Amino acid sequence: MPKQNMRSGGTAVKREMKSNETKRGEGLLPMRAKLVVIGAGIVGCSVVYHLMRRGWTDIVVVDQGPLWRTGGSTSHAPGLVFQTNRSRTMCQLAQYSTHLYGQHSWQGRACYHAVGSIEVATTPARWQELQRKAGWAQAYGLAAALLTPQAVQTLVPILDPTTIQGGYYVESDGIAKAVDICAALGTAAMEAGAATFYGNTRVTAFDIHKGSIQAVDTDRGRIETRQVLIAAGIWGPMVAQMAGESVPLTPVEHQYVLTEPLPQLLQDKGIESRHPILRHQDHAMYFRQVGDCYGIGNYRHEPILVEPQALDTPQTTEQEMPSLRPFTPADFHASHQEAVRLLPALAPRKLEQAINGLFSFTPDGNPVLGASARTRGLWIAEAVWVTHAGGVGKVMADLMADGNSDWDIRELDMQRFPAHAHSPVYVRTRGAQQYREVYDIIHPAQQMEHPRNLRRSPWHHRLVEQQAVFHTSAGWEYPQWFEANAPLLDIYPGHQRSGWAARYWSPIQGAEHQATRQRVALYDLTAFTKIQVSGPGALAFLQGLCANDIDRPVGTVVYTALCNQRGGIVSDLTITRTTHNDFLILTGAASGRMDLAWLRRLRPANGSVTISEVTSASAAIGLWGPHARAVLQGVTDMDVGNEAFPYFTAQDLWIAEVPVLAVRISYVGELGWELYCPTEYGLYLWDILWGAGQAYGIIAAGNGALNSLRLEKGYRSWGSDIHSEYTPYEAGLGWAVRLDKGDFIGREALQQHKAAGSARKLCCLTFDESHGVALGCEPILADDTVLGYVTSADYGYTIGKFILYGYLPLAYARAGTQVEVEYLETRFPATVQQEPLYDPRMEKIKS
Ligand code: FAD
Repeated sequence: MPKQNMRSGGTAVKREMKSNETKRGEGLLPMRAKLVVIGAGIVGCSVVYHLMRRGWTDIVVVDQGPLWRTGGSTSHAPGLVFQTNRSRTMCQLAQYSTHLYGQHSWQGRACYHAVGSIEVATTPARWQELQRKAGWAQAYGLAAALLTPQAVQTLVPILDPTTIQGGYYVESDGIAKAVDICAALGTAAMEAGAATFYGNTRVTAFDIHKGSIQAVDTDRGRIETRQVLIAAGIWGPMVAQMAGESVPLTPVEHQYVLTEPLPQLLQDKGIESRHPILRHQDHAMYFRQVGDCYGIGNYRHEPILVEPQALDTPQTTEQEMPSLRPFTPADFHASHQEAVRLLPALAPRKLEQAINGLFSFTPDGNPVLGASARTRGLWIAEAVWVTHAGGVGKVMADLMADGNSDWDIRELDMQRFPAHAHSPVYVRTRGAQQYREVYDIIHPAQQMEHPRNLRRSPWHHRLVEQQAVFHTSAGWEYPQWFEANAPLLDIYPGHQRSGWAARYWSPIQGAEHQATRQRVALYDLTAFTKIQVSGPGALAFLQGLCANDIDRPVGTVVYTALCNQRGGIVSDLTITRTTHNDFLILTGAASGRMDLAWLRRLRPANGSVTISEVTSASAAIGLWGPHARAVLQGVTDMDVGNEAFPYFTAQDLWIAEVPVLAVRISYVGELGWELYCPTEYGLYLWDILWGAGQAYGIIAAGNGALNSLRLEKGYRSWGSDIHSEYTPYEAGLGWAVRLDKGDFIGREALQQHKAAGSARKLCCLTFDESHGVALGCEPILADDTVLGYVTSADYGYTIGKFILYGYLPLAYARAGTQVEVEYLETRFPATVQQEPLYDPRMEKIKS
């Protein structure tokens, strides 16, 4: 066994040789293990530590480099931890990580130094962004404050306060000693007898039989196992490829330099840091004190991508750093000048170290976590920063032990990517863009610029004729509003917005909203994911997954949640029983792939159920509004009256010559149908409906209108209002749970939850004042107590009020309760309302 391995291998090498082990080369490599973890960077070590805490044993961790400085990204991360994030999940992962790191030390050295952080603003736009950050921090329980330039200088005395407008301070942010964390967590797992670690051991192949992992081949022998976790950092795509799996990430070079000692800091020689860590995002840079020196990180250069197959693999010494690339001084020049402007003390200092280090960027900047949908027993944890690795360890351990996490991890789910997002060109293009934008001010509704027009509905050019403003989801182009509807503003004047809140928004959305309520509108729903579940076992299969009762007559439509074992909502769907053994599932464009993976993972192995994604096979139109029946009746011979075609049923119709599945449901709360036809008939169908609708003032309407319409009607949106952290009872969806129908996933937890009662509830609020505005994620307060945060927000153009949704403790959930919502440091009074705000007796929708 190599020296390094013996030193670090702890219990792995102290024990007597067991029957499960064989002497190969220089060391003892087990022949079998319950789980093999590939990668002993901070992610692999954190997962193993958490599995140890879950009681797992017999884990083998292999790394191609030496332990603990393996040569991966962790080996040279300066370890800055900024916890604030608009994503509550990412903030939660970071909060958990700082707490975890703070509890550990290695060889007498603390693993975490909570020196605080400051993000400085040098422009009014950045200052406003920092105000937004202060709001998110408040919403998510992270103590933070806005500082004057002078207060910033008090904490960072070498900073020139005349260069900034102010700072955003988080006291609990700080520096994570990434390599020490690996050593501390890995050693804890070894000392507990849960895991053994093997450095200088490279995985070269997988043995997969009938879709299940059988063994892992290494350059030091084979280990039989039924479970593998790939935590191989930048090498992840290549390792996953050996198992036929795709991990969409690109390795990117990133600059980090260390100055020579600063005279101002000589007294700090040998300490970690006295100054808070610092971000200067207007120039894409970050800083940290390193004893008497300063470290500078730089994103301000064109992304330098490295193809995964071009990556080096390490030799056997700590000096080998296969994730380092030669420093490119030209990329640092402008940043260096800016660094000196902000921190003049850096002016005469030479650089003692300068690296281009490699780490991973995914198409949306988030980690890639979860179980492979194609290979049983294969797990992935990739593209994770040190900042989040502690929390990711807990998430992965929970997933591996229980099959679910008690946190909302949809933004990290490896199944979230549509097929095109795995193409090399997309991975490169989007990964590079994430690198460019890493410190940019991003509006929550900001749309990607490239690539666009990947997926279009068959009537796309009709939408273009109507001057659609397109947004994109899962590669689909969908209309947000139509400029051609601008003249409607004379009839339906709505509400006005300004500044940040008015971006990616138009008052035309309000006119489209009102025209839908008063006339009739066509909505492009083609992007919906459509899944066909068929076969003799289909009903029993769906009954075992769905919280609602699916065993209804053919032609019935059922709204249902899919829950995990904890009773958390993993998805909400509508399911139409089209024949005795055939069910059509309709779900969101972005969430559809995760739903599909969930269904496929749980499908019985006996072949009694087939699951097919049929999204591309049909185009879909929402025909909604009080005149919807008149329009539809004008183009079909079938009776679409209320008795012949009741609410929440589906029928096959001919609309002119076009075969259509008409589903009488409505996300906007008006009379109407979702109309599904084979894709090639789509344009023809659109034209027929458009022509028939002219007599009724039909319009094409976009998703902007749809959102405000659904909020007036109280319809939840999966991903914002509902997700796996909430049960249907908390979300106000208890009416769609049938505990008495027989067993289904989550039933036991829901029974207990129902008996115990909910401590919080999804509530509908409206602003008391007409100028109140919010975009989502803002804190909801009573006096200075944060009660929750805004999950959805939009103006209700029919009721004439701004609507918000958010979970509130029961004591505040009663209609009439007064609270406040803080937006950009202004508190707007809001009142909890009885919901829904529109058509509570369902008279319109069932008319
Ligand atoms: P790694 O640390 O790369 O670990 C993966 C391991 O897998 C490696 O040890 C590798 O040897 C092993 N492996 C790969 N293939 C095989 C195989 N076939 N067989 C066996 N073993 C294999 N993040 C922050 O949060 N804050 C920061 O301030 C920060 N600064 C950074 C600065 C720089 C210059 C860089 C490059 C990154 C920085 N990061 C920072 C990002 C952070 O370092 C990484 O995201 C994180 O360390 C990734 O951890 P990991 O465990 O996934 O990967």
